[in-house]
Amino acid sequence: MSATIIDGKAIAARVREQVAELVREFAAEYGRAPGLATVLVGEDPASAVYVGGKQRACAEVGMTPLDNRLAADASHETVAETLARLNGDPQVSGILLQLPVPNHLDGPALTGMIDPDKDVDGLTPVNAGRLALGMPGLRPCTPLGVMELLASVDARLEGAEAVIVGRSNLFGKPMAQLLLAANATVTTCHSRTRDLRAVCARADVLIAAVGRPRLIERDFIKPGAIVIDVGMNRLTPEQAGNKSGLVGDVDYAAAVEVASAITPVPGGVGPMTIACLLRNTLDAARMQEAGR
Ligand code: NAP
Repeated sequence: MSATIIDGKAIAARVREQVAELVREFAAEYGRAPGLATVLVGEDPASAVYVGGKQRACAEVGMTPLDNRLAADASHETVAETLARLNGDPQVSGILLQLPVPNHLDGPALTGMIDPDKDVDGLTPVNAGRLALGMPGLRPCTPLGVMELLASVDARLEGAEAVIVGRSNLFGKPMAQLLLAANATVTTCHSRTRDLRAVCARADVLIAAVGRPRLIERDFIKPGAIVIDVGMNRLTPEQAGNKSGLVGDVDYAAAVEVASAITPVPGGVGPMTIACLLRNTLDAARMQEAGR
């Protein structure tokens, strides 16, 4: 068997086109485009690249990017004041605090200050609670993107065994909640899981979000499973065997022979995260207009 390759780049491009169309409708109705405020503290080059990519994507779909940069030594109070100002600004539909923040700051505490209705990363305690309780709210972008990729291959989630490797607040936990809401039987693994191989080999849907290159080997995968690789690990291009130097958590060359469908790295989950961020920003803008 050779797996269907799930083309995250193409699926993300379709989501962006849909968002662009809906942004035009929103602007025609309300006389302004939704605004996405990014907050970057410090000059970490990788974070600056991520923020730049989000701003560009935002402008490409016709939304207004609002760039907020603070010095690396900005105090807790300064960041908190920035977030409070953005919470109160009606031009700002969504707020994104780029993580990680410098060590002297408390990232989760600052994230928690974002107005939950502008929390387009879906990471505030209020939105995590809404998700856990099955209430409407903004959901984290990467798990949302994975749900979209699963839909693209008509994954039957109801009653399926879904195994997630990784239990982070950013990905693993919200992913588990979304799959549970879709009526999958969900197992979440982590570094203390006994016999990870055996647990993974039960999965109809196997999702890896660990950050360990090629941890998931061929015999972790049940024949015919759908495999979603969230991991992004940077190696040298020679080690990685591709131009970008990026590999996932799954041994792709081996997995592609066993799985029924699989996401590549790069070009799988990654492009979906920004596409879902744009959609969340539009959804937030609409919810705010509906609540005015
Ligand atoms: P994280 O916070 O570091 O969490 C990693 C998880 O993996 C933890 O739950 C950890 O267990 C578990 N783990 C570590 N070693 C393990 C092992 N040997 N066996 C089983 N589980 C193990 O990472 P994250 O933020 O969720 O990100 C995970 C990966 O996804 C990273 O490569 C990241 O770059 C990537 N990512 C990509 C996107 C995207 O847009 N494509 C978005 C988010 C994340 P413990 O909890 O026990 O420590």
